Amino acid sequence: SPKTYDVIILGAGGAGLMCAAVAGRRGRRVLVIDHADQPGRKILISGGGRCNFTNINTAPDRFLSANRHFMKSALSRYTAQDFIDLVNRYGIAWHEKTLGQLFCDQSARQIVDMLMAECADAGVEVALGKAVSELARDDSASGEAPYSMRLGLDRLRARSLVVATGGPSIPKMGATGFAYEVARKFGLKVVEPRPALVPFTLGGTQILFRELSGVSADVIASCGKTSFREAALFTHRGLSGPAILQISSYWQHGQDIAIDFLPGLPPEWLVEQKRDRPKIHMATALGSLMPDRLATTLADKIGLGGELANLPDRKLAGASTRLHRWAFSPNGTEGFAKAEVTAGGVSTADLSSKTMEAKKIPGLYFIGEGVDVTGWLGGYNFQWAWASGVAAGAVA
Ligand code: FAD
Repeated sequence: SPKTYDVIILGAGGAGLMCAAVAGRRGRRVLVIDHADQPGRKILISGGGRCNFTNINTAPDRFLSANRHFMKSALSRYTAQDFIDLVNRYGIAWHEKTLGQLFCDQSARQIVDMLMAECADAGVEVALGKAVSELARDDSASGEAPYSMRLGLDRLRARSLVVATGGPSIPKMGATGFAYEVARKFGLKVVEPRPALVPFTLGGTQILFRELSGVSADVIASCGKTSFREAALFTHRGLSGPAILQISSYWQHGQDIAIDFLPGLPPEWLVEQKRDRPKIHMATALGSLMPDRLATTLADKIGLGGELANLPDRKLAGASTRLHRWAFSPNGTEGFAKAEVTAGGVSTADLSSKTMEAKKIPGLYFIGEGVDVTGWLGGYNFQWAWASGVAAGAVA
């Protein structure tokens, strides 16, 4: 006869483990299943191995979703401070790096160990290195344990099924689109998944910028009405760095990315330079703000040679406009192989924002990155994993 659980959670990542611990503490009999042979692999590689586990500036406007209100409920009921309190209870040392981003002083491993300890305390069972098959819902058994599946040779049943299998970014880490398959199987809609927080590739005439591979600069990167001021990095394939990753989440094929290479400087800056330092060339003027290789490349492309003194103000104003809004036309991104997250996912229109339960399928929940909620770079995606996990764990 099948083993029966109150809650079966698919996926032992941040969202699944958090959900499991909360449901287990409520006295529910919980099983977490992951096809990987260790839990929390994305936590382990996150934040350069130190896990940027939350952001103290967490607010709904730092998330993308077809419904920009959907994340409010879960985020307000489980806050960054709640997670900080948990980390503090475990004596894990942390620091703020920049822009409200909190990292472990030592290792991301501490976050995985903490979540596994929370699960163990709550009596949660964890099955690793095994995939489920024959997932089904038996409507006549509702109220009992309508969800059934096979795990190896075992048959399992559950009252609630929580899908916490994440998104398809970084497939080589075991990431899959499994959450979407389950959603579609049960008649939920899926918002077209796309790579986000991902480097751009450049082609055509902009291939020249590849020569700057390794150079980084403080810029404002914009797409449409959205902009981010952070570092941008030239790579051998195109553009990366935090400002670029951030703006990539808002980008659609065919759109231009505008880069402000003179962030915060007034339009008259070059004309002022001419007055103050008439004998210098454009590349030298720009070199006081950015790495020499970038200054030289931009000056070459602007094509105003000679001393600033000999250049008319009108031309300098034109150069300034161009430097404040340099247009790049990415021909694509580096795709799911390099994307830190997946935007899109299980449609929020079909889920309760309070519990993450499917509106039309009692007992079926979707949490974490598989849902159409995507955070900015900087700890926001983990905060969504924790908060959505807690929201489902409190009721499943
Ligand atoms: P995941 O952590 O992806 O967990 C899903 C789990 O489900 C995995 O263990 C997977 O093995 C399992 N699974 C998948 N398919 C199946 C299946 N069919 N059956 C069983 N199990 C399955 N976010 C931040 O906030 N801060 C950071 O510092 C940060 N750094 C990152 C660095 C990198 C390199 C990457 C790739 C991402 C980073 N992110 C960061 C994003 C963050 O890791 C994810 O948003 C977060 O892990 C999502 O949590 P999740 O639990 O929803 O999914």
